[in-house]
Amino acid sequence: MALVNEHFLKLPNNYLFADIAKKVNAFRVSHPRDKVISLGIGDVTRPLCPAVIEAMHKAVDEMATTASFRGYGPEHGYDFLREAIIKNDFLPRGIHLDPNEIFINDGAKSDTGNIQELVRWDNSIGVTDPIYPVYIDSNVMIGRAGVLKDGKWSNVTYMPCNAENNFVPQLPEKRVDIIYLCYPNNPTGTVITREELKKWVNYAIKNDTLIFYDAAYEAYIQDPDIPHSIYEIKGARKVAIEFHSYSKTAGFTGVRCGYTIVPKELMATTLDGQKVPLNPMWNRRQCTKFNGTSYISQRAAEAIYTPEGKKQVKETIKYYMDNATLMRQTLIKLGFEVFGGENAPYIWLKTPDGMPSWKFFDRMLYEAHVVCTPGVGFGPSGEGYARLTAFGEHEQCMEAMERLKNWL
Ligand SMILES: *Cc1c(COP(=O)(O)O)cnc(C)c1O
Repeated sequence: MALVNEHFLKLPNNYLFADIAKKVNAFRVSHPRDKVISLGIGDVTRPLCPAVIEAMHKAVDEMATTASFRGYGPEHGYDFLREAIIKNDFLPRGIHLDPNEIFINDGAKSDTGNIQELVRWDNSIGVTDPIYPVYIDSNVMIGRAGVLKDGKWSNVTYMPCNAENNFVPQLPEKRVDIIYLCYPNNPTGTVITREELKKWVNYAIKNDTLIFYDAAYEAYIQDPDIPHSIYEIKGARKVAIEFHSYSKTAGFTGVRCGYTIVPKELMATTLDGQKVPLNPMWNRRQCTKFNGTSYISQRAAEAIYTPEGKKQVKETIKYYMDNATLMRQTLIKLGFEVFGGENAPYIWLKTPDGMPSWKFFDRMLYEAHVVCTPGVGFGPSGEGYARLTAFGEHEQCMEAMERLKNWL
């Protein structure tokens, strides 16, 4: 008899974006003449930039002849890309990495979900709340999160981020073994200052805590004082694994490529107190379960670091950030309490008069024909908030703002 992993059954059936799609569809069916604009999507809309397209074409052509054909590549990625990453993403910030500390992946979702395999099932975890659902759900699947009660998992420490604490999470009162941080943040669009990030690194050093740091939106940072990588903080190499993605940086949501950094100094402890380095363990894990990101995707990623690639990617990010600025300004003028949108493609707004997230979602859909993402879908502290994304087309974004003006 094959016994099922019952931890999977603890996951609530409802998937946030499926629930939204259902509601939007119901509206479309009952209001066939009203056009809906979605500011709810977490996917990019701009095409890949010319430098990337050119590199992909070239890589495809290489696949066409025996001499230049590529089969299985190294599980941890090609050196041409690892070196481009070191030279462009880290050296300019004074961070020195060894190529063997970089693991090219097929996007950050896989690795942020899989990384928890490196630690025992009975570690305690802490997350900022609201949060990208992958962190918690991947821990639920392995039995580490406990049971769901009143919207919270029993073995998860939630660190609320809300208007009251200006989205600065407090260090947990009870020590935790593993902490997930994501900055710039999805869903709130807020960032962490160098001083605040130092507190987390120092906490981790003092408490033997492991930090999983998701930097998927690092390319959207505009303020020169905001850290792009946790390794900008002294001591972070001893405590943190960092995740990067080309999805939001360069429109790779359909291409699939990113990377994970596991520093050589990073250790976890065995039950009998021995320190074990995680870098060789992650390498072993990847060699066993992953056969590398496609050569074409890795050549595409490499092209982002060429002078043309850098310029073109910057233009796309500016396009989205112009949307974010327009949205911020409009919503503030309309009297909303608005967060994020300055160093991230997300706007997080407080619903008026403490209206529940889903009620706000329904009203905005039925009265303004604009779709948002209900904040409560990202965790209990998201109740009373909604997320709007800047990933739409500019004209649609402008039209959506006009509708909100007329709505209120
Ligand atoms: C989009 C996103 C990712 C990246 O996902 P990919 O698998 O690289 O497409 C990672 N973390 C967060 C918080 C995200 O929003």
